Amino acid sequence: MNNNNKGKPANKIQDLQFFGEFGGVNPSIADSSTFTYLEGKTMGDVFEGTRQGCYLYSRHTNPSNSYLGQAISEMEYMNGAILSASGMGAISSTILQICSSGDEIISSQTIYGGTYAFMKNYLPKFNIKTTFINTTKIEQIASAITDKTKIIYCETMSNPLLEISDIQKISELARKHNIKLVIDNTFTPMIFSPAKMGADVVIHSLTKFINGTSDTVGGVICSDEEFIGDLIDVNSGSAMLLGPVMDSLRAASILKNTRTLHLRMKKHSDNAMYLAKAFQNDGLRIIYPGLESHPQHNLMKTTMNEGFGFGGIFVLDAQTKEKANKLMEEMQNKNLGYLAVSLGFYKTLFSSPGLSTSSEIPDEEKKEMGLSDSLIRISIGLDHDIERTYTTIVNCMKNVAIL
Ligand code: PLP
Repeated sequence: MNNNNKGKPANKIQDLQFFGEFGGVNPSIADSSTFTYLEGKTMGDVFEGTRQGCYLYSRHTNPSNSYLGQAISEMEYMNGAILSASGMGAISSTILQICSSGDEIISSQTIYGGTYAFMKNYLPKFNIKTTFINTTKIEQIASAITDKTKIIYCETMSNPLLEISDIQKISELARKHNIKLVIDNTFTPMIFSPAKMGADVVIHSLTKFINGTSDTVGGVICSDEEFIGDLIDVNSGSAMLLGPVMDSLRAASILKNTRTLHLRMKKHSDNAMYLAKAFQNDGLRIIYPGLESHPQHNLMKTTMNEGFGFGGIFVLDAQTKEKANKLMEEMQNKNLGYLAVSLGFYKTLFSSPGLSTSSEIPDEEKKEMGLSDSLIRISIGLDHDIERTYTTIVNCMKNVAIL
């Protein structure tokens, strides 16, 4: 474990001190799309880029978005952040900011299906090519690099197979070739700090653990001041010109949820570890980085921040697609959670990624990466009594002949 990091991302949120307009303990919500100027010249200077620090128009940024951006960029050890209306808004804006026609991306093949579809099907319209490889194998990345490569892209813990890439080693390679390393940290907020391992850009879908209440979609791009400035440049910034901005009321509500993120991550992880161990002991095939049987268990142990566990998601092999569907229906009927995509909710969410969130990936590639239709991705909730949950799931498994 990386003891120097004990609890630190949590301290970063705890130590923020934002006052509301009348001394409120929560910052006032900026309920305005536009901002006034006392002098016409100042407005001109802001548009020219010769004057900073003034709010202008909410698509650019606004105080509520700045508060949440500050909280998340602090947590990620980065200098700035731009919020977006969804995780995909953050991913697409980042890629289109960095890449021009003719450029190339090297991406992990096990990534969220929407990201995969964006790279595989959408970016070729702009003559941007992606090479998909296994980013847990550094030699595969090295041999895919060309003089056109602008981005190496992967998820800290991949969706849905929970593979862990060695960000530190990848960043050394990226730096050597002057390539930007873009990391999606959606599955592991607090647990991993990719910037400390050399990532240039860290993205989250806020829809998941960070917000934690499954009431909105949202995204964030964290990076250095220069890249954040580029993203909101009025003449050439993709966050400004594509317009994926988050609404300020949502930013204010997500900020409040960040304050319990450290507690929630720990509880999600403890519950996932309990169930993963118990089901593995029952003879089921389980994918969970907290288990010694996971191929990157040791890598995770030595690179993660201490105190938040190995994450709140595990994957269960239900043996066949039919049994997987039956088990999920049975679990929902027994009120163990919801048969729904997404993750990071207080209640358990389960779905079969091969048939849903990764359905964009062609069958032969799914087969190659070990993503079969019998797998169930389980985002375990904040259940207080996890032993009761285990017993109820075991009964469901017996009812559908998995145990
Ligand atoms: N990144 C990961 C790892 C995801 O799982 C998802 C969505 O499931 C996204 C990005 C996209 O985020 P959003 O749905 O907020 O656009």
